Amino acid sequence: MTVPDVEATADAFGALADPVRVEILAALWEAEGSAVQYSSLLEAVGVQDSGRFNYHLSKLTDHHFVAKTDDGYRLRPAGLLVVNAVYSGSYVEAPVREGLDVGGACPSCDGPLVGEYDEGMFRVLCGDCGDQVFMLSFPPRGVETRVDDDDALLQAVSVHARAHTRRANRGLCPFCGGAMTGSLDLDADTALPVSMLVRRDCDNCGVANRSSIGYAVLEHPAVAGFLAEQGLPVDAPPWRFDWCLSNDTVTVASRDSPRVTVDATVEGAETALRVTVDERGRVAGTERLPAEDL
Ligand SMILES: [Zn+2]
Ligand SMILES: [Zn+2]
Repeated sequence: MTVPDVEATADAFGALADPVRVEILAALWEAEGSAVQYSSLLEAVGVQDSGRFNYHLSKLTDHHFVAKTDDGYRLRPAGLLVVNAVYSGSYVEAPVREGLDVGGACPSCDGPLVGEYDEGMFRVLCGDCGDQVFMLSFPPRGVETRVDDDDALLQAVSVHARAHTRRANRGLCPFCGGAMTGSLDLDADTALPVSMLVRRDCDNCGVANRSSIGYAVLEHPAVAGFLAEQGLPVDAPPWRFDWCLSNDTVTVASRDSPRVTVDATVEGAETALRVTVDERGRVAGTERLPAEDL
């Protein structure tokens, strides 16, 4: 794991400590990637005192948030990250949602699953026994902009979750862009009601992405293709598949060099897909079986 440069980071965040500087970043964002001339930037931000404006602008260029080029000023990657955090609502009080009807049933007690959002995290829990089956961060503005439409919110969380897993599966950290290493954990101790997991650890930021075996294979093209054939939407939420919530259809094929199979099933379908997962958490093979043979 990379050791953060705390001095440089604290200096950089200090360089943002004035509303005018955040306004400059927002004005450059609105230029959609084009360079902005000094005079246009001054006018967009609306500061009368050019000496004061220059002082704030120099803080942003000194700390790599803004680049000064022959054509004018433009956002650098660090500035872009700040603007993304601003528009995703990361620095204002996050909304709270409770009791969302997400569909699906609890793997422990068969109770109804409910969704909730608090402190930037979306969770799916059992309404009866309280077991948590799913948790992922989701941008606050993504909730606020869908406040009157629960279906749209759940669809958005599902797309977000599945894209997150797709990246992690391919070894790309969804948070920092670092490389992730996958492994199979057959005796996991987590808050989830499953003890067998695929883990993906970021070599750079150290984040650990944990998912059930079923959820980890959901994004594999063979599994996605099988589900599409059965008429399921491509962005169906993982909590709607009971084989993504529990280890009931997982069989350990080997413990020495860990290897498991998970059976992907669809209610009413004549065929199921048996998926083999290797010690790195990768799909090693798939096999179609008559559902009645399971
Ligand atoms: Zn339950
Ligand atoms: Zn990372």
